Amino acid sequence: MSFSEYKLYIEEGDVAILYINPFKMFAIDIKRMIPDKNGRLVENIFQTMYGSLKVNSLIGKKFGSKILLSRGWAYILHPTSELWTTLLPHRTQILYTPDISMVLFQLDLFPGKVVIESGTGSGSVTHSLARTISPNGHVYTFEFHESRQQKAVEEFALHKLSNVVTVTLRNVCEQGFGEEMNNKADAVFLDLPSPWEAVKHAVKCFKKKGGRIASFSPCIEQVQKVCLELKALGFVDIITMECHQRELTVSEKNLSAMSLDWRETPKPVKTALCIPAQEQIPGHTGFLTFATLPPDFSRSASGVVQQPVKITEMEIENVVLDENFHTEPVSMISMSCSDLSGECSDRLLS
Ligand code: SAH
Repeated sequence: MSFSEYKLYIEEGDVAILYINPFKMFAIDIKRMIPDKNGRLVENIFQTMYGSLKVNSLIGKKFGSKILLSRGWAYILHPTSELWTTLLPHRTQILYTPDISMVLFQLDLFPGKVVIESGTGSGSVTHSLARTISPNGHVYTFEFHESRQQKAVEEFALHKLSNVVTVTLRNVCEQGFGEEMNNKADAVFLDLPSPWEAVKHAVKCFKKKGGRIASFSPCIEQVQKVCLELKALGFVDIITMECHQRELTVSEKNLSAMSLDWRETPKPVKTALCIPAQEQIPGHTGFLTFATLPPDFSRSASGVVQQPVKITEMEIENVVLDENFHTEPVSMISMSCSDLSGECSDRLLS
């Protein structure tokens, strides 16, 4: 089993997902024996609210099978990056699938690409990056917190991703990404408290043909600083987005029909199928800033490309970092990703 490729049958050493319902899932290490409190090896029995599961009974079963618990049943699923994101042990705040999928799309990632990431954090984004660039690409991920870096190394080994992921202990804002990363990357992803400090180091890592950069920040002040730095270093097409999920519910509503006949009382009422949209969309996760580094032949000696900045909807005007640094507006749009709930899509299908 690997998080980057599928197989049919469960073997010892795999990770499998025990699916009870969409809100109750567990990642299980497929080991026949595990150490107890006193360090003695005992049979691996996993407890759920529907009774116990002998983990060794899963060996040889097909991923996707329905399995019996002592007081119920569940499904045993092949792990995916998306399932892992919902289950992983949080060592930091993490990115979730809607934001991650926008990052993968905007960074133009596919098998064979080389991507640099910092920080690794809990490895939520790294799993998706690794699966996307597999089998012949590579993710170089950098983390300055020693125990997080160590845990990430162990986890990627367990998930059989070590051939496509390298985790390095390093402070990328102070030390950069290292000489060995020069001219290596197609894309860079930053999820750091001060991403603008890492951008100048990231520039050196891009291949001569340039590439795409993404930065995730929860606060608009971070976005402002990173956009200024990107612009100063010659990035173009700088754009900031926010992913919102908007639930749409299909329902029948009584509407007064329009009638031009003034004698007609009361007004006729008609039933119509409506899809009212939520007006307020809760759940700000963060802003995603994307930009392109052009090929090196089109960069000036200072690395800065003179290009007009695109303004789409909203402008951040008069952003002042310190009294010496005034800038022009950078572009920003707000994006919405609508989601039809399962119930609603079922109704639409029937
Ligand atoms: N995207 C990750 C979460 C990253 S949290 C996920 O989805 O799982 C941010 C991480 O960046 C933290 O683990 C923090 O230790 C690390 N970090 C912060 N500043 C750093 C720096 N200068 N160099 C390297 N790592 C850094």
